[in-house]
Amino acid sequence: MDIHLARAWVHTIAVTLDEQKDRLTRLDSAIGDADHGTNLHRGFTAAAATLPLLEADTAGAVLIRTGATLVSKVGGAAGPLYGDAFRAIGQALDTPSAPPRQLAEALAAGQAAVEKLGAATPGDKTVIDAWAPGVAAFRDRTDGGADLAEAARAAADAAEEGMRATIPLQARRGRASYLGTRSIGHQDPGATSTALIFRALADAAAAR
Ligand code: ADP
Ligand code: MG
Repeated sequence: MDIHLARAWVHTIAVTLDEQKDRLTRLDSAIGDADHGTNLHRGFTAAAATLPLLEADTAGAVLIRTGATLVSKVGGAAGPLYGDAFRAIGQALDTPSAPPRQLAEALAAGQAAVEKLGAATPGDKTVIDAWAPGVAAFRDRTDGGADLAEAARAAADAAEEGMRATIPLQARRGRASYLGTRSIGHQDPGATSTALIFRALADAAAAR
């Protein structure tokens, strides 16, 4: 992971959210307050827009800036959660070029930041249900010697599987938890956006 891939990742997330924001908002209207897509789209579009002006030479600087923009521009639960995640990922990538295993640790640090702030564990029907399997798959592949693109593809596949597995769960964190058993039967919007973020990394890595 270098500065070019970090920029491409954030840019790809912004483009993906432009296409997928209505889907995310539909999911959030079923078990939340219908703002997840518009909020994240605004935040990542703003983050991508600041990057050409950023003077930096590490992926870390790009991702720390991205996290700071998310915290300031995105309301709701997702802004602070993704903001802290990207800042933690960036802090773990303070080098011109990080090997895949270092990116695995950085993504794990992002997961830890979400868990620290949100106190969710797997099965709570949150972003963690996509983030945790995504990180585990990425780590597993890089431990086996896979390159970044291959690890990112496996991580995106695993995150999407985790996303789909939120459908039968009852939410135990965030706004959806207020619905109790009525949250069952709906895919979690945050797990869905996390899967999009992992897929954007795979797409950006494959395009290099
Ligand atoms: P809000 O519910 O404040 O409107 P968003 O709509 O932006 O926030 O985001 C909702 C998503 O945030 C949920 O689908 C869930 O995945 C995630 N989420 C909510 N609370 C938590 C938490 N405590 N830990 C991890 N993720 C959470
Ligand atoms: Mg919401």
